[in-house]
Parts: sequence; structure tokens; C-alpha cells
Amino acid sequence: MRTSKLRVFLRSCFVVFCVFLPLSCLWNAATGTHFWKPWEMAISAVLTVAVFGGLSWLVTNVGMALLFGENWQYRAYRNSGGDPFFDSLPQVFNPDSQTVRQTRMDEPQTNFVPPASWQFRCPQCNARVQHRVDVCWNCGYGADSDSTAYFERYGDVKPPEISEEHWAKIRAEDQNRFPVVVTYRSDE
Ligand SMILES: [Zn+2]
Repeated sequence: MRTSKLRVFLRSCFVVFCVFLPLSCLWNAATGTHFWKPWEMAISAVLTVAVFGGLSWLVTNVGMALLFGENWQYRAYRNSGGDPFFDSLPQVFNPDSQTVRQTRMDEPQTNFVPPASWQFRCPQCNARVQHRVDVCWNCGYGADSDSTAYFERYGDVKPPEISEEHWAKIRAEDQNRFPVVVTYRSDE
């Protein structure tokens, strides 16, 4: 799962504090005073992260919504908890792997490594699978034609290559005869 936004915020404050503190010590040493106190640096770090981070977050999210708000893949990414600002932060602020940033979860650790050409992901266990409509080789998602995990993860977002008719069937309550959908990685 993605690192929570609160954790990323606190972590960022700490990183910035670790930069500010030695700078304030340098300043104090250079001026022969105790002008800057560590607690002042802590407050400065929090304010810096809040103000600059908040502004960047706003610009990134508004910009991405304007550019890609209608894009089904972006909507699915947002529905799965993705945030273009948090998911693009350097690793020092946000420790998540690229896979987690893009798809919310890590890949399951298994003996079988799916070929690189398998670009779809099981919405339940995040294993890469070959086809959009597929039964997951790892966790068996889809074998009972229950698409619940897809809808929980991505919301009601129809991938473009699935026909309206097929989508309606997938959404219908008696999904028993129909296969499931999985989704593309967000970097495709
Ligand atoms: Zn699976």
C-alpha cells in the first residue's frame, strides 16, 4: 500500500529540518550568537513543507485534472488513491517503489515471474497478467467471475477497449457467466 500522506508530510518535515538545523548552527557559529534555536528550525521546517508542498500539490493536482481529467486511466489511478503530487515526490520524501506509486501495491513475491509483455494487473493481488479480461494465475481472481475487486479499486471506470455491452454485463449483478476485468498499469 502507498505510504499515507500524513507520513509523507511528517517525513518531509523531518528531512527539511535535517537541512535547516546545520544551516542554523552554521549561522550561529558564523555570527557568534544563539540567534536560531532548534525549535525555531522545527517550526520553519513544518511551515516550509506546508506552504511549498501545499502550493505544489495544488498546482500538480489542478494541472493534471485539467490535462487528464477525462482520461479513463487517470480516473482509475485517482480512484485507487493515487495522487500525482505525492506519487512523484523524490524517494527521500516518499519511500514508495515505482510499482506502489503507480498501482497502489507491490507485486506479489512468487516463484513465477510474469513476462514483461504482461502489462495488466490483477486488481486483487497486483500480479501482472496477460489479458485485461483474465483469471489471475496467482490468486485466482476472476475464476468466479466476481469483479468486485476491480470496482473497489478503480471505481466505475470502463476501459476503452471493452464494449459498452460487455461492460454492462460485467456491472450487472448476475456476473456469474462473465469474466472479470483487470487494468493497465498507469504508466502505459
Ligand atoms: Zn491476483
